[in-house]
Amino acid sequence: LRTKLPAVGTTVFTRMSALAAEHKAVNLGQGFPDFGCDPKLQEMVGEAMRAGHNQYPMMSGVPALREAIAAKIDALYGHSYDAAAEITVTAGATQAVMTAILCCVHAGDEVIVIEPAYDCYLPAIELAGGVAVPVAMQVGADGYSVPWNQVAAAVTPRTRLVVINSPHNPTGSILREADLHALADIVRGTDMLILSDEVYEHVVFDGGRHESVSRHPDLAARAFVVSSFGKTYHVTGWKVGYVAAPAPLTSEFRKVHQYNVFTVNTPMQHGIAGYMHDPEPYLGLPAFYQRKRDLFRDGLEGSRFTLLPADGTYFQCVRYDAISPLPEAQFAEWLTTEIKVAAIPVSAFYSKPTESGIVRFCFAKKDETLALAVDRLARL
Ligand code: PMP
Ligand code: GLN
Repeated sequence: LRTKLPAVGTTVFTRMSALAAEHKAVNLGQGFPDFGCDPKLQEMVGEAMRAGHNQYPMMSGVPALREAIAAKIDALYGHSYDAAAEITVTAGATQAVMTAILCCVHAGDEVIVIEPAYDCYLPAIELAGGVAVPVAMQVGADGYSVPWNQVAAAVTPRTRLVVINSPHNPTGSILREADLHALADIVRGTDMLILSDEVYEHVVFDGGRHESVSRHPDLAARAFVVSSFGKTYHVTGWKVGYVAAPAPLTSEFRKVHQYNVFTVNTPMQHGIAGYMHDPEPYLGLPAFYQRKRDLFRDGLEGSRFTLLPADGTYFQCVRYDAISPLPEAQFAEWLTTEIKVAAIPVSAFYSKPTESGIVRFCFAKKDETLALAVDRLARL
């Protein structure tokens, strides 16, 4: 078989979770909560099943859910998407990203990807026949930032799409208003599109605000904005997300969507639609995760790890040069097998070998899980 994805193996998340299980390590690698979701949400999904919502929903998603999503975006970011023509429910953000890329990237088109980058962007670009053009984030004492002058320099007449992600996995950095203005300057007057991965939109700390692309009309007019209920409601296994995009983009998106999934499971959509009427669960998320972030950071304060800023997401990046000279992948393996705490090497998020001496820990864990991990890590 002539492989279509020669560089792709099993994802670092799967590998590190397997290694963690094999060595009975505390798994702070793969990003998922080790605690349950709200029983009320489970109950609402059960109710939807009992009410008979078990057959195919509309291709674009259950109308009540699309309306709830549009209302939320309007309330938080002041952009009113038409629920019928501009919101599509997807099987998680991963499918939204894949479908968005497949529907607009032609063979030979260039796609600017800011690295480190979440791992599903590059294979999607490759499958579409596109060419990924990586631009590396800068990392200093005050954390990671996007060098917009380098993004501007990467633009060519073939640039079709720019992929951004804020709050950012794996770095925990967030884009600020000035970042979006810089991006707007770059795309103005071009036909470039934007794919904005905002799955951690509700996980921004220290009173910061999430700078959704949908806040910025000139960007929103050319953007696929992607989010996921997995992160927001602690249900990563449900795989329900969505994409918001102007009608002409949504129309192209749905052409692909109807053939690569057609629809997303019905009872979850009904359950989430009902649950979304209460904004408290997502409005309370920053405080919920900030407490866990601080618990984890305080635990590592005074250890030989250097903590990078963590402005959003449920990830904490750390430097470990005072502990080990190992490359990131080997250090993460050593941590998992010997210290019994799994982490993810940030090098896994680059298309070319890149060593920064930084690994990522996930703090979406029970307090006792974090305490156990901290106990092991702080001794190093
Ligand atoms: N984008 C980012 C930045 C993510 O971290 C994740 C999942 N961790 C996804 C997309 C995929 O989300 P989903 O599980 O809803 O497919
Ligand atoms: N997005 C999660 C992470 O970054 C993992 C999702 C996956 O395993 N693909 O850890």
